[in-house]
Amino acid sequence: MRNIAIFGSTGSIGTSTLNVVRENLDLFNVVTLVAGENINKLIEQIEEFKPKNVYIINEENANLLKEKFASLNVYYGEDGMEEISNLKDFDISVSALVGIAGLKPTYNMIKNGKTVALANKEVLVTGGKLIMQTAKKSGAKLLTVDSEHSAIMQCLNGEKENKINKILLTASGGPFFDKDITDNITVADALNHPTWNMGKKVTIDSSTMMNKGFEVIEAKWLFDVLPSQIEVVVHRKSLVHSMVQFDDGTIMANIGPKSMQIPIAYALNYPKRLSNNIEKLDIFNIKDLVFEKPDLDKFKCLSLAYKAIEKGHCYQVILNAADEILVDAFINHKIKFTQIPKGIEKIMNSFESRELKTIDEILDFDREVKEKTQEMIDKEFNNSKYLI
Ligand code: NDP
Repeated sequence: MRNIAIFGSTGSIGTSTLNVVRENLDLFNVVTLVAGENINKLIEQIEEFKPKNVYIINEENANLLKEKFASLNVYYGEDGMEEISNLKDFDISVSALVGIAGLKPTYNMIKNGKTVALANKEVLVTGGKLIMQTAKKSGAKLLTVDSEHSAIMQCLNGEKENKINKILLTASGGPFFDKDITDNITVADALNHPTWNMGKKVTIDSSTMMNKGFEVIEAKWLFDVLPSQIEVVVHRKSLVHSMVQFDDGTIMANIGPKSMQIPIAYALNYPKRLSNNIEKLDIFNIKDLVFEKPDLDKFKCLSLAYKAIEKGHCYQVILNAADEILVDAFINHKIKFTQIPKGIEKIMNSFESRELKTIDEILDFDREVKEKTQEMIDKEFNNSKYLI
């Protein structure tokens, strides 16, 4: 029986993780659930999975939980997150908070030598070096549940001795791959992802292809390759989840159904696969496998991610922080879609390079960049009268 902690249990990855648990109650036991604001969903999860520890952001909600579930350990606020992420009573944790909120808790679990199944890619975008160094020191195991990275991890099984020529990181291309990107794009248009059903932030990041930029950075850290060895390949059907090209020319591909439950289950029960009820792919129904190059002029966020890699760590923190604020402003109808890449570029250009050695330095810098981005939105992008 593996004891599981789920950071982000009420979100898209969190609920998919609980689906895997529900189908395998003989293998997994939920000990910790961490949510943000969705108290009703959290209550349902507590009633069904009976964890020992839970977290919710605000104190009022935490008090409600304490009244309702007397024997539950309830944590809240910044200190509560620090405490719950330092508990050691789990075998594997799924890190599926969204944005930089996941950095410190994931760092704590890694520092404590725990096994972490990482969904929250922003953790490696903002703190890749520190996370990998800390894992090496503590002996923590870092698995991935991002579908592309899980695919790559699986292609690399048993290939330790072999040299990677290239990682071929597939991308669906999002809703605008075959369309023009204009000022008239609405929030609903951008949330209309062609192949995956995910949380709002990652769905908007997929529509700008910033998500793929983040994944390039994530792949660089997870698989210890140079950025020049990572090629983004647009594959509209999302059936090939990524590939690895070895030095002898062989390409290993991971192909399968479009369900996040598969990479999640693979990480939870690593290295043993779990059977499931998901419809198997009928290989004869795949008429063609098409791979295309992304247009870096059109998808400016992807080229900004490459630029951030080239310019160094602090620019990756800027990329992430500016993106978080601009995507939130877009979702709340405060800016236009086209202002997301424009804003990120402007903010990236406004900072001198600096070294960020600790988690606290990264978090302080993240706050500084976010303040500056918000100021820019209020002063320069205040065009709400044009927005739909
Ligand atoms: P969601 O927005 O659906 O879920 C985020 C979860 O984190 C929710 O449970 C939310 O709680 C919780 N949360 C957010 N902020 C805080 C906070 N400050 N403190 C405590 N809890 C918080 O996101 P996804 O599940 O889509 O994505 C999670 C991560 O996984 C992202 O980094 C994403 O890029 C990555 N990912 C997602 C994939 C997907 O298919 N969805 C695929 C691959 C990677 P609440 O809802 O209660 O407020």
